[in-house]
Amino acid sequence: MHVWSSFPLQGLKHSIRITSPSSTRIILRTYDVDLMMQSVHLVWFKRDLRIRDHAALTAAAAHGPVFCLYVDEPELLNAPDHSAMHLAFVNECLHDLERALAGLGVTLHRRTGDLPAVFAQLQLDLAALPEPARITTIWAHEETTGWTAYQRDRAVRRWCRAEGIVLHELPQTGVVRCLASRDGWAAAWEARMATAPLPAPRRIEGITLPGHRVQLLPAALPITQLGYLGLQHGGETAARETLRSFLRDRGVDYRRAMSSPATAPHACSRISVWLSTGAISIRTCEHAARARLQQLHDAETAGEPVDSRWRSSIASFRSRLRWHCHFMQKLEDQPLLEFETMCDAFIGIRDESEPDDTLLSAWYDGRTGYPLIDACMRSVRATGWLPFRMRAMVMSFASYHLWQHWRFSGVLLARHFLDFEPGIHYSQSQMQSGVTGINAIRIYNPVKQALEQDPDGSFIRQWVPELHAVPLAALAEPHTMPAMLQQMYGVEIGVTYPSPIVDNAHAMRTARDRIWAVRRAPGTREAARRVYDRLGSRKEPFSRRDVR
Ligand SMILES: Cc1cc2nc3c(=O)[nH]c(=O)nc-3n(C[C@H](O)[C@H](O)[C@H](O)COP(=O)(O)OP(=O)(O)OC[C@H]3O[C@@H](n4cnc5c(N)ncnc54)[C@H](O)[C@@H]3O)c2cc1C
Repeated sequence: MHVWSSFPLQGLKHSIRITSPSSTRIILRTYDVDLMMQSVHLVWFKRDLRIRDHAALTAAAAHGPVFCLYVDEPELLNAPDHSAMHLAFVNECLHDLERALAGLGVTLHRRTGDLPAVFAQLQLDLAALPEPARITTIWAHEETTGWTAYQRDRAVRRWCRAEGIVLHELPQTGVVRCLASRDGWAAAWEARMATAPLPAPRRIEGITLPGHRVQLLPAALPITQLGYLGLQHGGETAARETLRSFLRDRGVDYRRAMSSPATAPHACSRISVWLSTGAISIRTCEHAARARLQQLHDAETAGEPVDSRWRSSIASFRSRLRWHCHFMQKLEDQPLLEFETMCDAFIGIRDESEPDDTLLSAWYDGRTGYPLIDACMRSVRATGWLPFRMRAMVMSFASYHLWQHWRFSGVLLARHFLDFEPGIHYSQSQMQSGVTGINAIRIYNPVKQALEQDPDGSFIRQWVPELHAVPLAALAEPHTMPAMLQQMYGVEIGVTYPSPIVDNAHAMRTARDRIWAVRRAPGTREAARRVYDRLGSRKEPFSRRDVR
C-alpha cells in the first residue's frame, strides 16, 4: 500500500487515498485529514475555576497553543438543585479567572449550549480563522458530579473518539476514578496529596476567537443583587485570602466553635464554596495547613508563645479535607447516588412519589414551631451557608420528625447551599436520613440542640424576630409558655409564631421505631455489607459498625 495523493492546501480538509500497490490504483481507504492547520489544545474549565494547581492547564500550556473555554450548559443550569445564587457565584469565579488568565496571556472564552455540540461549533469557528486552527486535544479534570454531567462526559468522550481528538481527564482531588476496591483508598489519597501544588503556568501561548464574549444568561444577576446577606464571593483570589485568614487567625478555636450557628460562621474555614467550584484545590488547602503546622512548630522551637488550640483545630480541618474526597468518592463509585437510596433495605420506607407539601413547606419556610430549625432554614436561605451540625439537624428533622424522603429535602437544601457539592450533599442527605445502612442512626433533637448550640439564644433571636422578647428559658420551646407569658413577651403561639407542626418526643420515638425495624430486619445486614464493600470508609471494619 502506498499513499497515492495528498494536496497540502492550507486550512482545507482534504483526502489522502491509500491505494493498492498495483498500478490499477484501487482505492482501499480514504482519510480526511487537516493539513497546515494549527493544532489547538483546548482547556475545558468546569468545576476547576483557578490557575494554580491546575494540572490540565499546566499540561496544555506545555504543549500550546491553548484555547480556554467555559460552557454554560442549559441542562445543568435548569437542574432542580441549581439556583441563581450558584450561577452568580460561578460568574464571579469566571471574572476572576478571566483576569488571571489574561495576565498569563490567554483569553477565557465562554459559550452557552449543550456538549459536545459546543465543541463541534467551535471546531468550525477555529477552522474559519484567517489562520485556520483545529482542536486536537482537550484537557479537563475528572469531574465527579451529578448524573447529568456524568452523561454529558460520556457523550463528550464518544464525540472525541469519533473526531479523533485526544481527551485527557486529569485528577484534581483525592477521588480515584475506576477504583477497584475501597481498601487502600486512604493511602491513595495520601499519595495524591504528597506532592506540592502546581504553580500557575508562567506564560501561555493562547488563541483567541474574535467576539468571544457572550451575553450573560438572564438569571445571572450580580451576587449583590440577589438579596442575600453576606454571601461569599467567587474567585481564586477570595479563596486564597479566606484560607489564609482561617489558618492565621480565625481557625484557632475551630474545633470547639465549629458546630454552633452563632460561632461557626467565623470559626469555620468557609472554604467549601471555592472547593466545590474548584477555585482552590484540596491539595492547596492541605499543603497550606501543613505549612501552618510547621510554622507553629518552628515558633514553639524558638520559644515563642503558641496557642495550644491550633494543633487540634488544624488536625480537625485536615480530617475534613479528607472527608471531602471520601464522600465524593461515593458518587464517583455510584453515579446514581443522587437518586438512588444507598442501601436497598431502606428503599420505600418513605414516600418517594411525592412529599407532604404542608409539612415540607413549613420546614422549608422556617415555620415548624421549633425555633432552631426555623432559624437555620431562614438563615441558610438568606446566607447560603450553615455549619455541618445544623445541616445535619435540619435534614434529620425533615427525614425523621416529618418522615419525608431525603430526595425532596435534599434538593431544596442544595438550592440554598452555595457550596453545593453533589457527592457530599446527597451522601450526607442519605446518611442523615438513616438509609445508608452503614452509619450510626442520629436523630437530632431540635430542642436539645437549641440549648446546646445556641446557649444565649442570639442565633434564634436574629432569625426568628417574632421571638426576640422571649426569655432564654423558653426560647427553645416557646409553645410551652402559658398564654399569659406569651402575652407578656409579645408572641402568640399559633398566630404570630407557629405551634409545633409535630410533637417532638412522639415524632422522634416513632421515627426511631420505624428506622430500627428496618435496620433489624432479616437481609438488612447483608444489604449493608454490600454498601460497605462498595462505599464504606475503612476506618472501622464492618463488624464493628453500628449496623444492628
Ligand atoms: C445534609 C448535609 C449536606 C451537606 N452538603 C454539603 C455540600 O453540598 N457541599 C459541601 O461542601 N459540604 C456539604 N456538607 C458538609 C459540611 O456541612 C460542609 O462541608 C461544611 O459545613 C462547609 O463549611 P466549611 O467550608 O466552613 O467547612 P469546614 O468545617 O471548615 O471544613 C473544611 C472542608 O472540609 C470538608 N468537609 C467538612 N465537613 C465535611 C463533611 N461532613 N463531609 C464532607 N466534607 C466535609 C469541606 O470541603 C469543607 O469545606 C453537608 C453536610 C450535611 C449534613
